[in-house]
Amino acid sequence: MGKLEQEVSRRKTFAIISHPDAGKTTLTEKLLLLGGAIRTAGSVKSRKSKKFATSDWMELEKQRGISVTSSVMQFVYDDFKINILDTPGHQDFSEDTYRTLMAVDSVVMIIDAAKGVEAQTLKLFKVCRDRGIPIFTFINKLDRQGKEPLELFEELEEVLGIETCPVNYPIGMGQSFCGVYDRFKKEIELYDDKKEETLLPAATLEDLRSVLSKVADESTIGQLEEELLLLDEAGNPFDEEAVRAGKQTPVFFGSAISSFGVPTFLRHFLGLAPGPAARETSKGQIAPTEPLFSGFIFKIQANMNPAHRDRIAFLRICSGKYEKGMETWLDRTGKAVKLAQPQQFFADSRENVEEAYPGDIVGIYDPGVYQIGDTLCEAKDTFNFGKLPTFPPEHFSKVRAKTALKQKHFIKGIEQLAQEGAVQIYKTERFEEYILGVVGQLQFDVFKYRMEAEYNVELDIQPMSFHIARWLMSEDVPREALRSTTNMVVHDGQDRPVILFENEFGLNWFQQKNPEIQLAESIV
Ligand code: GDP
Repeated sequence: MGKLEQEVSRRKTFAIISHPDAGKTTLTEKLLLLGGAIRTAGSVKSRKSKKFATSDWMELEKQRGISVTSSVMQFVYDDFKINILDTPGHQDFSEDTYRTLMAVDSVVMIIDAAKGVEAQTLKLFKVCRDRGIPIFTFINKLDRQGKEPLELFEELEEVLGIETCPVNYPIGMGQSFCGVYDRFKKEIELYDDKKEETLLPAATLEDLRSVLSKVADESTIGQLEEELLLLDEAGNPFDEEAVRAGKQTPVFFGSAISSFGVPTFLRHFLGLAPGPAARETSKGQIAPTEPLFSGFIFKIQANMNPAHRDRIAFLRICSGKYEKGMETWLDRTGKAVKLAQPQQFFADSRENVEEAYPGDIVGIYDPGVYQIGDTLCEAKDTFNFGKLPTFPPEHFSKVRAKTALKQKHFIKGIEQLAQEGAVQIYKTERFEEYILGVVGQLQFDVFKYRMEAEYNVELDIQPMSFHIARWLMSEDVPREALRSTTNMVVHDGQDRPVILFENEFGLNWFQQKNPEIQLAESIV
């Protein structure tokens, strides 16, 4: 195996998705501790604890600063190079959160055992499912009483529509929690206070009973035996193909706070999760082992400090090897660009990158030349990875310059920031007023701030009552069929018609009334 093949085969690049409070920060931290990337617990900041007033820009900048360094965290474990991409949640939830999923090879979904599938998980899950991204499930907080495991599988299958295959299975729960049984390795992992890994082989149910009789009561053992038999008979057999296609999720149980189940989860994950795969381009598939360096930009992080107008563009490497100082070509403009000061991010620092491989993410200094979805390649006129999809915004506001004198600056700023991917812009049909569409409220704040700082335009932003956008896919639909008192027809940045609805009820009502009209939730 050549050096490139070898480096590709040791990369695992994934994102952790969850609803706030399920344990994403805790699990991330335990994984980083295992990899020796951090030494003490508490190094990964939970951003939600840093409440900020929207007018407090210092605080916002601090917040942004944190998210730059914690955007990608790389560590080594068992000779694997692991890249964890942060998916901003809480008040930082934005279109970036979705776009990050375009740059990973798999996803770890954390579910709180007591809460099951929650709203934010569902949203992020849908994006993974639509893209066929492999999903690994970690059911957390087993040290507390939660829902029954079988009930949780049913919920995952029904709400998310994905097959489950438990790799391990909890022995008791809450007060009676004694560990998990690894169905693949046929061993018991005992939960104890020492926080050391205790793995005991148990090839048969008899072995299981004899080991557990010292730590668990009869009803716990009886229930476990019954459920394991049920899973063997009626559960989904492990299907690697289905996992790789995102149709089956391997499920793990644990308690992130005490690191219980985390090392075994990581080892299984590294064995099962796919590494960097070939990606579609305008010229067919490009394998990661293709020697020609290429990658695409999936996120642009503006610096909130007006003294530094620079931005950082995040590049996912897809093929070849990145070397310091190398010249690349930006496919969209056909121009050569030197990747200036590329950086890689660790738990609490950034470092200059000497070389990087497919699966890695590098942050490059952006003087304003990059857009989200841009392809960079080592040679001119090669291929591109296509546009990143546009995700459905959930908040809309009418926006205009406070003073008409600034109209020119206003249009320039709004068009540029929309191109960069900071917000989506729409226009009303008749008066061509600008409407901003965002996935998370924070995007409005950042937009307003940047328009003032970078374009010197004060904005008047008026929130609208719409929360759902659907692209109109059917052609030649008469306008009368579209209009109602509760929706609005607008045009997106590429002049494609979009219907805005106030809520699910409005959308459902519209679809029932117009079953022949095709609507799309996201669009490329
Ligand atoms: P995030 O919002 O998903 O990043 O969640 P955090 O990692 O910040 O965790 C939310 C809360 O749940 C914190 O108070 C954690 O201490 C707690 N927590 C995380 N994992 C566990 C666990 O395994 N068991 C219990 N009992 N609490 C946990």
